[in-house]
Amino acid sequence: MDVFGTMQDAFGQGVSAVKGAVSGVAVENLPFMRGFIRLCSDGWQEGWHERNGGNLSYRMTHAEVDSCKSFFYDVPSSWVKMSVQAKNLAGAYFAVTGAGRYMRNVQLDPSFNVGIVEINAAGDSWRLVWGLKDGGMPTSEFASHFLIHSVRLASADPTHRILYHAHPDNVIALSKIIPLDARIITRALWKAHTECIMVFPKGIGVVPCMVPGSMELARATSELMKTYDAVIWAQHGLFASGPDFDSTFGLMQTVEKAAKIHGLAIAMNGGSSEFANTITDDDLRAIARSLNLKVNEAFLS
Ligand SMILES: [Zn+2]
Repeated sequence: MDVFGTMQDAFGQGVSAVKGAVSGVAVENLPFMRGFIRLCSDGWQEGWHERNGGNLSYRMTHAEVDSCKSFFYDVPSSWVKMSVQAKNLAGAYFAVTGAGRYMRNVQLDPSFNVGIVEINAAGDSWRLVWGLKDGGMPTSEFASHFLIHSVRLASADPTHRILYHAHPDNVIALSKIIPLDARIITRALWKAHTECIMVFPKGIGVVPCMVPGSMELARATSELMKTYDAVIWAQHGLFASGPDFDSTFGLMQTVEKAAKIHGLAIAMNGGSSEFANTITDDDLRAIARSLNLKVNEAFLS
């Protein structure tokens, strides 16, 4: 979740002084921002973003930064120091949802609900250069996103630019009834639906219930994101990473759907998870072979 509220005094003067656009397509209409906005709307339509729940960040390309620069504030906000540092993200720019702002409102007013932040040369501070009007600041999970972006770039998959956190109902429900063990959870999800091993062949990580927005949660998640593209936050939601908006949203949706099918099957089966039919480990291996997938073998029997 996001801690509700904004911190007007985190910024220097000039945050609301928008530079007149001299040329080019408005930031809201650029392809990356349209993808960003669509994901927020789709997540809201799925029911994953009650109140101001959930957040999204996107690591921009150099070309995207160049295409936005004429719309950046003449005077950006002051630098805001984070509790984490990542040298490999020095000078990066991120589009990010705002603290206390609502996913359902992003499409209606992108420049109020989404911002672009620049990271300083030391890789430990951000400043707002576009959007989040009226004293907004990035999601309270931004330090988590920042740390995990750094991990993805350094050791996991440098093509991954997107981190998406949502509160999908069935994933949260599953985390209440299943042992919080990555292998057990992954096998339940892989065996719920043949699509799953294709979408997340590395499996799904899990962290126990932790304080939302805490550095403990950020560090635990970033460790697991060295291995997994998605991590369940027990009794809270799911954190997913991907190279583009379609695949990141698709990962979130596939995990949620598998959790729903697993729960439905248990309910249909009178509360038992001893099913009459299932996807066997040999079936999973056959699917993996047919698509040449690099499956996490430790999760197969
Ligand atoms: Zn949350």
